[in-house]
Amino acid sequence: MRELFERLLVSATPASRVLLAVWASTPFFVIVLLAHGWALSSDEVRAGLNAGPMWALQALLLACVALNLTLAWRLWPRRGRRERVPRSAMLVCLSIGVGYTALTILSGTFTTCASVILVGVLAIGLLIFPMSTMFVAYLVCTGLIVGHDVGVLLGLWAYAPALGPQAFVSDQPTWWLAAWREYVFYAGYVVLLYLLLLLFSRLDDMHASLIQLSHTDELTGLANRRRFMQAVQAELVRQGRSGQPMCVALLDADHFKRVNDRFGHHAGDEVLRTLGAVMLGSVRTPTDVAARLGGEEFALLLPDTRLEDARRVCERLRSTLAAQRFRAEGQNYRVTVSIGLVESRGQDADAILAAADRQLYQAKTEGRNRVCCMVSMWGGA
Ligand code: GH3
Ligand code: MG
Ligand code: MG
Repeated sequence: MRELFERLLVSATPASRVLLAVWASTPFFVIVLLAHGWALSSDEVRAGLNAGPMWALQALLLACVALNLTLAWRLWPRRGRRERVPRSAMLVCLSIGVGYTALTILSGTFTTCASVILVGVLAIGLLIFPMSTMFVAYLVCTGLIVGHDVGVLLGLWAYAPALGPQAFVSDQPTWWLAAWREYVFYAGYVVLLYLLLLLFSRLDDMHASLIQLSHTDELTGLANRRRFMQAVQAELVRQGRSGQPMCVALLDADHFKRVNDRFGHHAGDEVLRTLGAVMLGSVRTPTDVAARLGGEEFALLLPDTRLEDARRVCERLRSTLAAQRFRAEGQNYRVTVSIGLVESRGQDADAILAAADRQLYQAKTEGRNRVCCMVSMWGGA
């Protein structure tokens, strides 16, 4: 059900959103029309109602249904198009809002708990339509309810004008009024509960995807610098407790500027994506973290790994990339990486990265396309 709703909202066109609102509200209005029709035809119930306001409400609800169905009929051929339909959307919101508000006012704004449904309907509206579309309906409905209640307080008109004195026996609602209130209350309760669950799960999803976005490098899909530093900090805490070794490697593409200069940035980006994929293929997931720190600089975090094992991982990665053939502008070319690797024994993150950077520098000065490594101890490198 939730997937269906999500699909309707995410992939819906503006016209199909209006259709959705019409399909969702029409059965409710029709049920109310039928229930009121039955109430007006039953001698016992009719005696407790004020026929004038009831017939006015029936006419209004009928007009709302007719308007909505006419709009739906006109919008149906446009349901697949992306064009906006602001006037139809506003009219549908307005007619659903006014129809429902009139029902609420006539049967008792507070005692039927109809306001619960009103809040639910507003929330549904905001899920389907933008605030600008809902705003007119929101203003009109709120104005009607507040205006009605002020009028009741000032004694200008009666509360729940559709109900007569015979809707109550010794100040208690008759069975049919009690049943109607229960129905309205539970219908509203279910709508509201469902919407709350939907809203919270959507917020949850959005929160998860924001975290994912803030931790991911866009070009390669690897972890970004922020995520990498968090992982190193967390691993250092864990290492402090477990005493297990851990390794950090810094990688830098060799003469990468030449790739950009000769073949353009697109080719360079392609190389970076490939390097990211090779890194991911060389490590154990999910314990190891492969990250792009920025530009053509990458990093690996290998928890619970000794220097010798980490060196094998880095060598494999280096040789896999060196064997890879790239092609651009009719020419084949290769790209290599230099890697500085350290096994950490208790320093902080900055000291470990500085030590790895020194090894990387050494790999560059020794001729590139190689791994330089060392065990990094407290206070020295
Ligand atoms: P070295 O072997 O000494 O590392 O040489 P290099 O050319 O790789 O080093 P340098 O730091 O001088 O050049 C890095 C180049 O990486 C410069 C820049 O144009 C390129 N670069 C940085 N970020 C990106 C990116 O996102 N996409 C592409 N295509 N190129 C990038
Ligand atoms: Mg660089
Ligand atoms: Mg480089």
